[in-house]
Amino acid sequence: MKKLVVKAASGSSQILVGESLDNLGRYLDARRTVIITDDTVKGLYQNRFPVCPVISIGLGEKIKTLETVAAVFGQLVDLEADRSTFLLGIGGGIVCDITGFVASTYMRGIRFGFAATTLLSQVDASVGGKNGVNFGGYKNMVGVFNQPDFVVCDPAMLKTLPVREILCGFAEIIKHAAIADFRMVDFLDNHRDAALDLNDAIVAHLVYRSVEIKAGVVTRDERERGERRKLNFGHTFGHAIEKLTGIPHGEAVGIGMVLAAKLSVQKGLLPPFGARRLERLVESYGLPVLPPMDAPSLFTAMRKDKKREGARIHFVFLDALGSARVEEIPFNELQRSVNALKVR
Ligand code: NAD
Ligand code: MG
Repeated sequence: MKKLVVKAASGSSQILVGESLDNLGRYLDARRTVIITDDTVKGLYQNRFPVCPVISIGLGEKIKTLETVAAVFGQLVDLEADRSTFLLGIGGGIVCDITGFVASTYMRGIRFGFAATTLLSQVDASVGGKNGVNFGGYKNMVGVFNQPDFVVCDPAMLKTLPVREILCGFAEIIKHAAIADFRMVDFLDNHRDAALDLNDAIVAHLVYRSVEIKAGVVTRDERERGERRKLNFGHTFGHAIEKLTGIPHGEAVGIGMVLAAKLSVQKGLLPPFGARRLERLVESYGLPVLPPMDAPSLFTAMRKDKKREGARIHFVFLDALGSARVEEIPFNELQRSVNALKVR
């Protein structure tokens, strides 16, 4: 087991990579804990949960709402949860978001922790202190910054995940490598088969290094005023593609990263072989690399998605494979660049 600390303005948190679900009891007082999970995780793992009341939320992005939060508040009241109650979220990104938001607002805030059970939540959603829900058709519109006391990442739990969920986690792992660590790009290339087979040691290394990269960024810029924007690499395109087509987030981000790398080449920041290598890496992890629409439709979707940001946009480019830079560019410049891309 390897431990990492995130120190941010809203608090600090320890991330325990390689810790087992069976040891959760070491990090909390079961007499004061309430567990929040989803139906799938409950069905698979409840017999190994610490012995505490369990609240199960439904499944899927559609339940990440204030209504679900209110329903959980109701159950906490029924359980007579008070300010000394500890909330433990056991699940993927949706459970983490709901748990963190509920814990931050119930009785003005109670302590909480996570056992992250999807690859995506281990490398991304559970780390960084953003906890939010969707509102009015927009993702993560309402939420708080607040760090959990701890995050347990048990690689063995990933073995029950559907392949498509695994690949979405790898998209964010590749993102972390692309923006911050060329050696990790090599590692991902050299250990692809073992990684995709969910070899414990290889996955633990990739989770640890991903968390280290994200935690480093968050420690320096929790509230996304500067460097944290780098974590959005591939996401401006990705969100638009996700909204337009309904394909999973990670797959859309895979395509988005390839497009953002191509824009970086077009801008003269990244040598063409850097973009080609990223494209091959994304593809070799079973993720799509071509957008299922032409450039004008892609741009329209991007503008719709980003209309909250105004006429300019922070776009994440690569200046090398393993190094990102954020530039604020006007939307019409982005439009020209996107239209000039050979996207298909
Ligand atoms: P998820 O929580 O819906 O989990 C995906 C599916 O896998 C669910 O059906 C779940 O029941 C199932 N599952 C979970 N663990 C399992 C296991 N061990 N074995 C078998 N099945 C399992 O989705 P996700 O991909 O983990 O997270 C996506 C969410 O995370 C999105 O809502 C996204 O907005 C959010 N997110 C938040 C942040 C943040 O910083 N707060 C960052 C990235 C993503
Ligand atoms: Mg993402």
